[in-house]
Amino acid sequence: MGSSQAPTGATPGRLAGGTPRAALADLLSGNRRFVSGQPIHGHDVTAAAATASGDQQPYAVVLGCIDSRVPLEAIFDQTFGAICVIRTGGHVLDRAVRGSIEYVVGQLGVPLVMVLGHERCGAVGATVDALRAGERPGGSLAHLVDEIAPAVLEVGLDDPAVLALAVRRHVRRTVDALRVDDLLAGPIGAGRVAVVGGLYDLATGEVALIDPA
Ligand SMILES: [Zn+2]
Repeated sequence: MGSSQAPTGATPGRLAGGTPRAALADLLSGNRRFVSGQPIHGHDVTAAAATASGDQQPYAVVLGCIDSRVPLEAIFDQTFGAICVIRTGGHVLDRAVRGSIEYVVGQLGVPLVMVLGHERCGAVGATVDALRAGERPGGSLAHLVDEIAPAVLEVGLDDPAVLALAVRRHVRRTVDALRVDDLLAGPIGAGRVAVVGGLYDLATGEVALIDPA
């Protein structure tokens, strides 16, 4: 987005134009500002900025990992009220996550869902380790491993690049799962909503699309 336009995120829904394509362009332009070291919101993490946001008017929902190195509002240079954020280990889906996305899309009219994986993901790494050891972890951690395992197995444990490839495969699988979600499939089919996958590079801060809509 050029400098002649209003700052991204000031009135996010209107600026995004309500289309998936415009929302994606807005989100990626925020990442470019972050990467270039010229954020327009990064310096403005204040109570005043929060108050100024008024009613929320988000234009995208990002589902990412809990990894502390990937703070989603920061890496997309977004202000208060601009994007909805959901984070789980390895961006694994469960009913609460699906319900949250369905709410954001259905009730708030958000046109874009991005699933964002990242290099060297600990959740995917833990799944690789568990599968190699043949030991399923206890507790609810098992749910994460169970959900990520298909991506790892599709790549193959013997592949020397299994972690990097499984991260990408798991993003695609998560995108695919959301595209056939009961309440999302209709709006997606009508072109009102898009689900896309992205990959965050820990070294550069760049987000690359894995599976453009
Ligand atoms: Zn991760």
